[in-house]
Amino acid sequence: MSGWLRVVGLGPGPDKWLTPEAHDVLHAATDIVGYIPYVERVPATARAKRHASDNRVELERAQQALQAAACGARVAVVSGGDAGVFGMAAALFEAMEKGDAAWRVLDVAVVPGMTALLAAAARVGAPLGHDFCVISLSDQRKPWSVIQLRLKAACEGDFVLAVYNPASSTRREQLEAALAQLRVARGADTVAVAATSVGCKDERVMVTTLGALDAAQVNMRTLLIIGSTKTRAVGRFVYTPRTYAEAL
Ligand code: SAH
Repeated sequence: MSGWLRVVGLGPGPDKWLTPEAHDVLHAATDIVGYIPYVERVPATARAKRHASDNRVELERAQQALQAAACGARVAVVSGGDAGVFGMAAALFEAMEKGDAAWRVLDVAVVPGMTALLAAAARVGAPLGHDFCVISLSDQRKPWSVIQLRLKAACEGDFVLAVYNPASSTRREQLEAALAQLRVARGADTVAVAATSVGCKDERVMVTTLGALDAAQVNMRTLLIIGSTKTRAVGRFVYTPRTYAEAL
């Protein structure tokens, strides 16, 4: 049988957020490749051989997956959420670009998953009801000055702003600096949501303001949503109206 490769988004956590398509691909695969915690989340009923590796070896992992598919394996490369959002899909295509020309004509496809932002937004209501933008706060792959510029641009455009990778146990100053910048640019009263481990047993979702947001409550499993000037609370919900009447 000829090999194939699928880059599969597993959703933000629980099995009920794994799409039926992703479920089928995992069960048809002969090999499952990915970062250790994601490989652990693949349902036990999937009998494929599992190849779990560390987070820092994305490119090597992608190369191995392409090589295995070229040799006839049916490979599922797994990522949390959606594989295309700060996940393995881009690493896969980078490996394809740098690697063997034959890899470009393999049977490769990306299977979409629910990204964490959609799960977090749904928990609080409809904060993404109008234009929004998304940033990763990690400066491991880009200069801090680029992040500062993008935060500034998001505020100038009055976008709702979603922040992935806001902090880790060792990377804390970036979050403090970003919050300080946003408080000045957008105002301390702006609605802010900190959603941690959404869909998992330790889920914690806080609706607060930029001024009151406690950075100590934010970790590597947190997604932040910072409202636009129009985002507001109604009862225990948060929403951004779909109409934006005035010019900026
Ligand atoms: N590909 C993933 C994102 C990977 S980056 C996706 O589409 O969701 C990792 C970041 O995603 C984390 O730092 C956090 O900001 C966010 N994240 C992932 N799972 C989450 C969850 N269950 N709850 C809240 N945020 C989550």
